[in-house]
Amino acid sequence: MDFSNRHRQQFIREASSREYDLLVIGGGITGCGIALDAGLRGMQTILLERHDFACGTSSRSTKLIHGGLRYLKQLQWKLVRDVGRERAVVYRNAMHIVRPEKMLLPVVRNGSLSRLSTALALSVYDFLAGVKKEERRKMLSAPAALQQEPLLDADRLLGGSLYFEYRCDDARLVTELAKSAHREGARLLNYAEVKGFIYSDQGRVIGVKATDRLSGTEFEVKAKQVVNASGPWVDACRRMDKSFDGERLILSRGIHLVFPQSLFPVRQAVYFDTDDGRMIFAIPRQQVVYVGTTDTFYSGDLQEPPVTKEDVNYILSAVKTMFPQVSLQEKDILSSWSGLRPLIQEKGKVAGEISRKDEIMESPSGLLSIAGGKLTGYRLMAEKIVNKVAAREPGRFGPCKTKTYRLSGGDFQSAAHMEDYRTMFRERYGAAEWLIPFIDEWFFRYGTHTEWIIENALGLEQLIADPFHRCVMAELIYSFDHEMTATVSDFLVRRTGMLYFERRKALAVCDEIHEYLQKNLSYPSPLNQSFRQEIHLLLKQAVDFT
Ligand code: FAD
Repeated sequence: MDFSNRHRQQFIREASSREYDLLVIGGGITGCGIALDAGLRGMQTILLERHDFACGTSSRSTKLIHGGLRYLKQLQWKLVRDVGRERAVVYRNAMHIVRPEKMLLPVVRNGSLSRLSTALALSVYDFLAGVKKEERRKMLSAPAALQQEPLLDADRLLGGSLYFEYRCDDARLVTELAKSAHREGARLLNYAEVKGFIYSDQGRVIGVKATDRLSGTEFEVKAKQVVNASGPWVDACRRMDKSFDGERLILSRGIHLVFPQSLFPVRQAVYFDTDDGRMIFAIPRQQVVYVGTTDTFYSGDLQEPPVTKEDVNYILSAVKTMFPQVSLQEKDILSSWSGLRPLIQEKGKVAGEISRKDEIMESPSGLLSIAGGKLTGYRLMAEKIVNKVAAREPGRFGPCKTKTYRLSGGDFQSAAHMEDYRTMFRERYGAAEWLIPFIDEWFFRYGTHTEWIIENALGLEQLIADPFHRCVMAELIYSFDHEMTATVSDFLVRRTGMLYFERRKALAVCDEIHEYLQKNLSYPSPLNQSFRQEIHLLLKQAVDFT
């Protein structure tokens, strides 16, 4: 069965009529990683997500698979080593989404880094993280750093260094993970909210009560074990469990702002100092640059944390200090996003100092909860908790298989193999010139699946005259048929990122997408009526600061 909401009623019928080995709550990177790991070990697995896959923190990060350079400052050697090494695994498993990105680290007068401390830190980092020879740090003199990035302040610049991070589209990584888990036999359902637990006579959790948010139907799912991977909502889910024994999470809010590259023409990604001793990223992507992030404790609405005027001023001022020739203003912001880090509480520390380590909590009811961590460490987190699940039925399930598993769309042996594949597409479909600019874009979103979308686009040639609209529809059809897309924002925010990075284009296709989904989702749905409002609200929120 395709991974499509076309089969939604069937998924729900099936879910309510059997008992699973494992039920996962939450379809962010953590939950989808767990569903894949469990599916590969042969566990009958189901995952329920209350909104869309990746709609929580996992679509609102800095979008880097990073080696944890900042943990060096906190002397967390093991974390630096584990996360750094894991970065290589995440890259290998999803090369089409996770791509090496050269990062410039400028050293400036009165900054928090000196040339010596930077050289030392990056050498330790290269060693601990097992960085490939060609990606090891390179120190730069002041003129060389300025040549690398002419927007830097020549008067303050003392030098810099180049090192590698890995850029990724967080929500696409989650989508490919969800598709992979489905391919391996797990069932994953978006817009299915867990509302409560079902208990055995002995008080053990043996399932959940859920609501299908697209149709309003309530249903129950039975499972031998339940894992709560609901990110910022982990404590809220634990509170639903009658064995709740107190809060374990503290949330920290981080925002990003998107500017046109024409106004902030940074040549490459830069990781730079702020006046308060923190560091932020400026990362070019397509025709825009996104800048972030902040790190402040938060206790308001979890679904849509705001971007405040204070956040905006903080980022604008940090950019002005490091790049004095650039004068960005609030009105230049194209879009923004705000996310919540689900951190494990550490009394007396400010948000930036709290460790990003993960933790598993085990309730007397048997409910397992996992929180903390990073996108980068998702696979290890999944391995750890699925090991725990497997240990409850000794001998039944095999070992973890995700380390060498190529995610959906990423079936490449090497970077060179991936390039050959891309060239093959361009050659095979080169006769349709209008397709060429879209092929690259699709390739780094869908990898080997790009061919489906190309074929969709060719099939629409006689029906839709404008190539842009034709190609968006081709992508939408694929996404509806194979990625569980159900709402306009699923497509514009999490499947394509268009709302953040190509806002004008997103506005131009909003209504067509809405119409297609209305026609193809086969049942009347209360949420359907509000799709249009939802997207207009999102568009407004992205440039409306409190
Ligand atoms: P989430 O992605 O929030 O997923 C939890 C899901 O559970 C949500 O989709 C939610 O809807 C669902 N849910 C909640 N309640 C229920 C319910 N009752 N029923 C069903 N579903 C439910 N990490 C990196 O490695 N690199 C970075 O560059 C990076 N940058 C970051 C920048 C910022 C600003 C922030 C905030 C975080 C960043 N991180 C980064 C950390 C990383 O994004 C998070 O660790 C990770 O996304 C957390 O994923 P998760 O799956 O645990 O939570």
